[in-house]
Amino acid sequence: ILKVTEFISANDLAALLDVSVNQIISTCMSLGMFVSINQRLDAEAITIIADEFGYDVEFTKSIEDEMVEDAPDEAEDLIERAPIVTIMGHVDHGKTSLLDYIRMAKVTTEEAGGITQHIGAYDVMTQTGHKIAFLDTPGHEAFTAMRARGAKITDLAIIVIAADDSIMPQTKEAINHAQMGGVPMIFAINKVDKPNANPAKIKEALAGMNLLVEEWGGKYQSQDISAKTGQGIDELLEKVLLEAEILELKANPNKNAVGTVVEASLDKGRGYVATIMVQAGTLRIGDIMLAGQHYGRVKAMFDHKGKKLKEAGPSTPVQVLGLSGAPQAGDTIKVYDTEREAREIANSREQIQREQSLRTKKHITLDEIGRRL
Ligand code: GDP
Ligand code: MG
Repeated sequence: ILKVTEFISANDLAALLDVSVNQIISTCMSLGMFVSINQRLDAEAITIIADEFGYDVEFTKSIEDEMVEDAPDEAEDLIERAPIVTIMGHVDHGKTSLLDYIRMAKVTTEEAGGITQHIGAYDVMTQTGHKIAFLDTPGHEAFTAMRARGAKITDLAIIVIAADDSIMPQTKEAINHAQMGGVPMIFAINKVDKPNANPAKIKEALAGMNLLVEEWGGKYQSQDISAKTGQGIDELLEKVLLEAEILELKANPNKNAVGTVVEASLDKGRGYVATIMVQAGTLRIGDIMLAGQHYGRVKAMFDHKGKKLKEAGPSTPVQVLGLSGAPQAGDTIKVYDTEREAREIANSREQIQREQSLRTKKHITLDEIGRRL
């Protein structure tokens, strides 16, 4: 009998069965299933594969089973929430410049001279008085990590493409990510201040990929911008809001907070610091929160300007102090009524992880260690 949790990867299953992952893949193939090394397998697939190798399967509780699911929200509890936006694109096409421009133009005006911290997420108020939250992740890594862990955090993706360049591999990757995640895209054709910029060429290339922009009669919004001069950025933000309106984003602020960890680290003076995006409910000082294997009471909360917050509602990015460790980007963060509940789930997660790593450890190759670092 093989004890296993649902949704383990083909690779981990191979380790548990003491066979090579190639054997798993070819066995699946002979059964008409195509799986890749890191693919997570559902209960049915695991049962079939294990059977091929002569095992009966017993499913141990998955982590999600242990999370006490909340009652569905009543329609009257739902209020509009701000869109959560990720900026993606090829290296050097201007992601950081765009995020910086938006942050500086829209954020620091009332706090000239104040130090804006880099906390991985921030929100801004647009010209027309609407909020937009941005995930400010270096490169795609955090976003990719979050997606790999199944976290759905982004409502919209801005795909930045430099008008003096062309559609590049990471541009395509970003488009793929958005499409696979079912996240609507808006194209920001950047660097139009440059003399050799050719936004029409980019739109043509997009059309060639079946991504026809709105001004050419298609369904994708695009905006010519310059992250250097600020040209077109207000218009871009209005297009984000327009797209968000179609999505009718709503959340219930009147319940225990649920969110996703954007990044976390150990700060010498302040202990473990986690940047989280609250997605539903309201997070308050004193709440008992759990993220991954770590829990604790919310000791303090700050926005990206370093301003203290007492509470944070849906679509609010906050820096939180009080966790017992650093969770991973993409971990769900959830508030519990009692410390006992949070501790029990944290402990059982720790145990599952310890068991799985013990069982898989002996099969880790040098190559894999290299990939993990
Ligand atoms: P990232 O790798 O996508 O984050 O790209 P960066 O924001 O770091 O930008 C790469 C380079 O392009 C930097 O030297 C920026 O100053 C420059 N850059 C970004 N946006 C613009 C723009 O709109 N106009 C011009 N002229 N340069 C830009
Ligand atoms: Mg950058």
